[in-house]
Amino acid sequence: MAGEPQADCLFCKIVAGEVPATVVRRTETTVAFRDINPQAPTHVLVIPKAHYPNAASLAAAEPLLAADLLREAGEVAAQEKAEAYRIVLNTGSGAGQTVFHVHAHILAGRGLEWPPG
Ligand code: 5GP
Repeated sequence: MAGEPQADCLFCKIVAGEVPATVVRRTETTVAFRDINPQAPTHVLVIPKAHYPNAASLAAAEPLLAADLLREAGEVAAQEKAEAYRIVLNTGSGAGQTVFHVHAHILAGRGLEWPPG
């Protein structure tokens, strides 16, 4: 069923506490933790506890939860004292998505080029 935990999903395992992570914030519906391979001085991933493969499928099924994710991205940025930051939602392997549980990357603490690579 949509949103249910998936046995083979790394981020569902982080939600369940079965895989350790450095959690920086947790709400009723989301978890935010530091990326294991940071691409900037601040690199935090925000995920919904519910399993959806990407942002579009999350927003289609649970728009309020998609809003939670974006609000929480802002809260993480504020907690990290990031004045400027980038929110990235890679969608599809061709765009660099490697974990198919939707996650917002929050990147900050260095100059961020535009256009991105
Ligand atoms: P994607 O490439 O799917 O947009 O982002 C997946 C992110 O998850 C990558 O930035 C990668 O470094 C991070 N990641 C992969 N495995 C782990 C892990 O076990 N723990 C944490 N904290 N991050 C992970």
